Amino acid sequence: MSDTKCFLCGNVAKSSTQHNNKLSGSNYTDPRDRHIDPFVTQGDIIEFYECPICGFYGVDHVGVVKDKFNDDDKSKLSQLAAERHLHNKTGFILSQEDETVFVNNLPFNKMETLLKDYPQDAIELLDRAFLNLSSYFSHPTDRWKDGYTVRMPSLLFTAPNKIFEILLQFKECGWIKFIGEPISSSSPFQITHNGWQHLRELKKRPTGDSQQAFIAMWFDENRKSFYLEIEKACTDTGYKALRIDNKEHNEKICDQIVAEIRKSRILIADMTGQRGGVYFEAGFASGLGIPVIYMVTQSEVDKIHFDTRQYSHIVYSNENDLYEKLKHRIEATVPITQK
Ligand SMILES: [Zn+2]
Repeated sequence: MSDTKCFLCGNVAKSSTQHNNKLSGSNYTDPRDRHIDPFVTQGDIIEFYECPICGFYGVDHVGVVKDKFNDDDKSKLSQLAAERHLHNKTGFILSQEDETVFVNNLPFNKMETLLKDYPQDAIELLDRAFLNLSSYFSHPTDRWKDGYTVRMPSLLFTAPNKIFEILLQFKECGWIKFIGEPISSSSPFQITHNGWQHLRELKKRPTGDSQQAFIAMWFDENRKSFYLEIEKACTDTGYKALRIDNKEHNEKICDQIVAEIRKSRILIADMTGQRGGVYFEAGFASGLGIPVIYMVTQSEVDKIHFDTRQYSHIVYSNENDLYEKLKHRIEATVPITQK
C-alpha cells in the first residue's frame, strides 16, 4: 500500500489497486468476442483505501467513476464510512451496481444504495451523531477536553467548522453540559444524566446495525417451501430471517412479535392467505420507519386489501420466481450487508 489522498475525505490514506477478478456481472466480457465495454477497456481495477477516518473500502473502476461523484456525495459517503468504521462494521466497494460478490470481504454497492443509510432528517442526524460521539465516553465523569479528533466532523455528519454548532444543539437537547464559563469551542464537556438516558433509548431502536429480517406470513404447512426461499433470499443478501410461529398464540400479536419487529432492519410481508396478523405486523413496522417489502402469490393479487394495494407488491408465480424477485428487492431496499 502506498500513501495517497483518501478518495472520499481527502485525508492522508494508504491505497492499493487490484484487478477485479470476480468474473461475473455485467462487465465481464469474453476476450474472444472482443465486445468493447468502456469499463473493461479502461481496466477493470478496484482501488482500495485504508483511511484513518473512513476505514477500509474500495472504489470499482476508479479511473472511470472518479468524476461521477461531487463533493457533497463524497462527504456523505465519508460520513457513512466513518460511522461503519467506528462501529467495526464492514466497508464497501463503491461500484456502478449492487452485487453480492465480495472482494477482500467487501460487498459491491452503488452510491444510491449506500446513501439510503444516510440520516433521513435532522432528528435522526442528531441522534446518530450523538450515538457516535458517545462511543468516546464510558463513564459519567468522562470529559471531552483534548480538542476534536480528526474523525469528529464525519462522526457528527458535519463540516469541521460546524462541530461546535452541533455540540450546541446537543446542549440545547440537554444531552451534554459544558464545563466552565464562557462556553467556547474549546470548552470541555460531559454527557448529562438526560444524555445517558437518551442513549439508552436510542440503543433500543432498530439501527443500520441490525441484520434481522422479520418475516410476516401465513404459516400454513403448504407455505413452507415458500418460507424456505424467503429465508434463502435473506441469507444471500446478508440478512437473518426471523419468523415467529404464532399458531400457539391464536394469531394474537404477542409482546415477542412487537419486540422482534422493533429490532429488525426490514420486514418482509407475504400477504398470501390474507392473515390479519400479517397486515398488523406490516403496518406496525411501517409506523416505526422500518422498510416493508410486500409480496403475494399471482393467484391472490385481486384479494389484497385495498389499504395496502397502493404499495408495490412483488407478485410471484412459484418458489424460484419468489427467490429471484425478493433478492433483487432486498438489494434495492436496504444496503447489502456482509454474510
Ligand atoms: Zn477517508
